[in-house]
Amino acid sequence: MNSIWSSDRAKGLNKRRKHLMLLLCVFMITVLLGLTWKTFHPSVFAVVNTDLSEGGSDEEHAIPEPDHIFTWAISAGDTLTAIFENYEISQNVMYQILSADESLLALDVLSPGNLLTFTLDQKTHKLVSMELFIHPGKRVIYNRVDDTSFNYDEIIISGEWKQELLNGEIIKSFYLSARSASLTDHETGNITDLFRDHIQFARDIRAGDRFQVIRSRQFVDGEFTGQSRIEGVRIFSGKRIYSAFLFDDGNYYDHKGKSLARALRRYPMAGHYRIISHFNPARRHPITHRITQHNGVDFTMPTGTPILSTGDGVVTRVHNHPFAGKYIEIQHGSQYATRYMHLSQILVKRGQTVQRGARIALSGNTGRSTGPHLHFELHVRGRPVNPLTAKIPMASAVPDGKLAEFNQRVGDLVSMMEQPWRKVALHRTDDHF
Ligand SMILES: [Zn+2]
Repeated sequence: MNSIWSSDRAKGLNKRRKHLMLLLCVFMITVLLGLTWKTFHPSVFAVVNTDLSEGGSDEEHAIPEPDHIFTWAISAGDTLTAIFENYEISQNVMYQILSADESLLALDVLSPGNLLTFTLDQKTHKLVSMELFIHPGKRVIYNRVDDTSFNYDEIIISGEWKQELLNGEIIKSFYLSARSASLTDHETGNITDLFRDHIQFARDIRAGDRFQVIRSRQFVDGEFTGQSRIEGVRIFSGKRIYSAFLFDDGNYYDHKGKSLARALRRYPMAGHYRIISHFNPARRHPITHRITQHNGVDFTMPTGTPILSTGDGVVTRVHNHPFAGKYIEIQHGSQYATRYMHLSQILVKRGQTVQRGARIALSGNTGRSTGPHLHFELHVRGRPVNPLTAKIPMASAVPDGKLAEFNQRVGDLVSMMEQPWRKVALHRTDDHF
């Protein structure tokens, strides 16, 4: 009995030892694979690692990072101040980074999925650089210039935009049918916004009506970045066809080339005010004297001058920034956004819908500013452009000289819509549409 027991026990021990060895091997392989993988996929690695460390169990699971590089995965409610405190990086340094970010304001809208990677000097433990990972197609790196300042590099990868046709029939509502055709709520919102002046979706769209949507989605190295755009829509409602096509000027037109969006105003105020600083991709900053981008136009005006929204839209940001001062951002449809900075008073709330010409704020001199003025920016598809010269929806139709090109584009999109069996018909690598 005894011997049987002992041999059983010995077998058990042996088994357990084998088990341990196996586990050890698996662990070693995982570590090796992880390290190799990290070399090639640093950003992906960061997600895995920080997810673990967030749970407070980094010692048990995480593959150790070098002790001078830290990655923080943003979750809801995170503030930059708290993150800097967590890594014992001084608020002073945070302000130096915010100063570099003044012309970009990328750090004002940290959202879940974003990653912040801090690289400290191994000896002095001073912050050398900080990377903000927004999505696989967009990162911003803040690099130390000297003891008191940072600059930034914005890394944009246009990747590959893949077109696909999504279609469906209305059963209960456009919203529900669009969702079952795999359109996101954001995309559906963009579509209803496009037809805002033409269709009341709740009243006009009925069961049995049909829709066709050409959507483009951005991929970088095969990974979806979360970025998409609507290239064409047709809605068949009773005997009517409503259509919208995105043209290369960034505007949407119907099949005849008539503009769908209401025009944007060129200027965000009623009177004429002197321009004291133009849009300039490389300007010497009047206070820091460093070469930085000036992504907007500065109009000198007395504090308290009414500021008007240049278009219909939704207020997407209301912030108080140490350098940009009190500022607002308004999104106009899916293509355009405007920013108004150094305000003395903000008259709108985040999420609020505003009309073209609505009074949204009073100008001021808040933040880092040499005197009372308005800094005004226009962004097309997330990139700042010169608001005084950019092609914006001012005209109500495609210009005559561009009509042949527009018709060609409509023809391409419509023929794609009429061949529903071709799920992904075209691939494009440029970012012109
Ligand atoms: Zn300015």
